[in-house]
Amino acid sequence: MAREQDPMLHRGIGMTSQRTRERLIQRLYEEGVSNAKVLEVIRRTPRHLFVDEALAHRAYEDTALPIGHNQTISQPYMVARMSELLLEAGPLDKVMEIGTGSGYQTAVLSQLVERVFSVERIKVLQDRAKERLVELNLRNVVFRWGDGWEGWPALAPYNGIIVTAVATDVPQALLDQLAPGGRLVIPVGAGEVQQLMLIIREEQGFSRRVLGAVRFVPLLNGPLA
Ligand code: SAH
Repeated sequence: MAREQDPMLHRGIGMTSQRTRERLIQRLYEEGVSNAKVLEVIRRTPRHLFVDEALAHRAYEDTALPIGHNQTISQPYMVARMSELLLEAGPLDKVMEIGTGSGYQTAVLSQLVERVFSVERIKVLQDRAKERLVELNLRNVVFRWGDGWEGWPALAPYNGIIVTAVATDVPQALLDQLAPGGRLVIPVGAGEVQQLMLIIREEQGFSRRVLGAVRFVPLLNGPLA
C-alpha cells in the first residue's frame, strides 16, 4: 500500500517498536508456525490497536489479554496456528469466524482469504471490531450479531470455519455449513480440558484430527445486547 498513511503502519511506531514485533514473529516461527504468509500478515497487523491503550505496551507479547466483558483477545500463537491449519490444503474463498471479539483474528484472516463472515454474540465488542477493520481498510469482512452455535446458515456453505471460543461439543450447525472439503478448526472441551480439533468434510462423512491442549473462553449461548 503506497498511500501516504498506510493504516497498517500509522500510529504503531513509537508505541511498540518494530523490533518488538519482529521478536514475536521469531518466537512464533520457533514454536512451529511455518506458513510464511501467516507470519507476514501477523508482522504487519497492528495488534496494539485491538486492545485498550493501557495494555498496548503488551500487545506484542505472545499472550491473551483482556478486552472487557470477560473476554480476551486470542494469543498470537493460537491465531497463527489456527490460520495455518485452515490454509494447510490451499487458499480459501469463504471463511466463517465464530467469536469476533476484538476483531484481531478477523483482521488476520481477512488478509489471508477472499471473504470473512464473522459472528459474535456481544454487540458492543462487534461494533468496536467493525470500526477497527474499517480504520485498517480491511473491507472483505461482513459481520453478524448472533449465536455462533447456529453459524450463519443463509450464506453457507463455507470452505473454512474457525471458532475462537471453546465448545462443549462440535456444533452440528457448523458441520452442516461446511462445503465439501471444507475445514473446521475448533477448540472442544470444558474448563481446563480443551483440545484443538481440525475437522474436514470428506466425500463421505468427516475426518477429525486432535491437535493438542489449548485454553479458550467458553462458547456461550445466545446473542447479548
Ligand atoms: N478472536 C477473538 C477472540 C475473542 S474471545 C480475538 O482475538 O479478539 C471469544 C469470543 O467469542 C468473545 O468475543 C465471545 O463473546 C464470543 N462468543 C462466545 N460465545 C459465542 C457464541 N455463542 N456466538 C458468537 N460468539 C460467541
